[in-house]
Amino acid sequence: MTLDDIKNEIENANNIVIFAHEKPDGDAIGSSLAFYIAMKNLGKDVDVIIPHYPSDFKFLPCSNEVKLKPDIEKYDLAFALDCGDIKRLDDPEETYLKAKTRINIDHHMSNGMFGDYNYVDPVSPACCQIITGMFKYYGYTIDKNIATCIIAGIITDTGGFKYEGVTSETFEIASEFLGMGVNISKIYKNCMGRISREKFEVRKLAADRIEFLADNKIAYTYITKEDMEKYHVDQNDLDGIVENGRDVDGVEISIFLYETDKGFKASLRSNDYVNVSDICLLFNGGGHMKAAGCTLQYPLDEAKDRILNATKRFLK
Ligand code: 5GP
Ligand code: MN
Repeated sequence: MTLDDIKNEIENANNIVIFAHEKPDGDAIGSSLAFYIAMKNLGKDVDVIIPHYPSDFKFLPCSNEVKLKPDIEKYDLAFALDCGDIKRLDDPEETYLKAKTRINIDHHMSNGMFGDYNYVDPVSPACCQIITGMFKYYGYTIDKNIATCIIAGIITDTGGFKYEGVTSETFEIASEFLGMGVNISKIYKNCMGRISREKFEVRKLAADRIEFLADNKIAYTYITKEDMEKYHVDQNDLDGIVENGRDVDGVEISIFLYETDKGFKASLRSNDYVNVSDICLLFNGGGHMKAAGCTLQYPLDEAKDRILNATKRFLK
């Protein structure tokens, strides 16, 4: 497979559909919208499907054109963006699988290579950064709207340009976009620098519950469905909680459990040497070296015990 094969598929397709991972973050949404706008600019019939669009990202261009479900049964070409595992694709009707040709563009190291064409670069800090490279190679114009979506994805997935995965290309892209008049400061504030009062309150509760375990190398906390109801928040409002634990001196791994319909979802982060994707793979999850997740289909106490026991084995 070469990038040219994907370009050919795009050129030959009439109906295109774009999906991203469930509980979409800025990178999933930024990638989807950037791709959507680029396909529209090429004159393609394209749908971007995000069944649960988080209100925090309504500021992005074309967010009002996102569809909650697909318009047609069988598309010529389907994209899965920023999604390492077909099980996590936010595609309730399995439209992706029904498409004539399936493409998987991603940066998760645990990617299952589930597409007919897979373009996966695990050292890229954001799927949006991969997409930028593709568009440049293809000679597609990156207009201000596409750039806004791309930089929003890069900002979210790099924690505001601060994670280790950041490359010189990341800053080159930011610099180029700044030169085009993209308001990076405002996008940064929208992605990273503000939270609702409800989100603040639930973060406070989770912070209050943090336990420091295994010689303070593990920070653990949780939020139940009952908490979410009480604080009027949903799963989308819980991001950022797991990072709070990781930021404490001495902590190697931060673990955050939150209740979903399928059990407890675990969100893991590490600081230095533990590959949390390996821990999550033990529970059929995955992700990146320093940010990963999985689902534990057990009551809270058992989920906690299982994830803690597995995690402790990875500590030095
Ligand atoms: P988060 O903790 O922010 O939900 O996810 C951290 C990273 O791990 C993200 O890149 C996310 O896509 C990935 N991830 C989270 N949960 C799962 C999971 O259940 N399976 C897989 N394969 N990846 C996951
Ligand atoms: Mn991503």
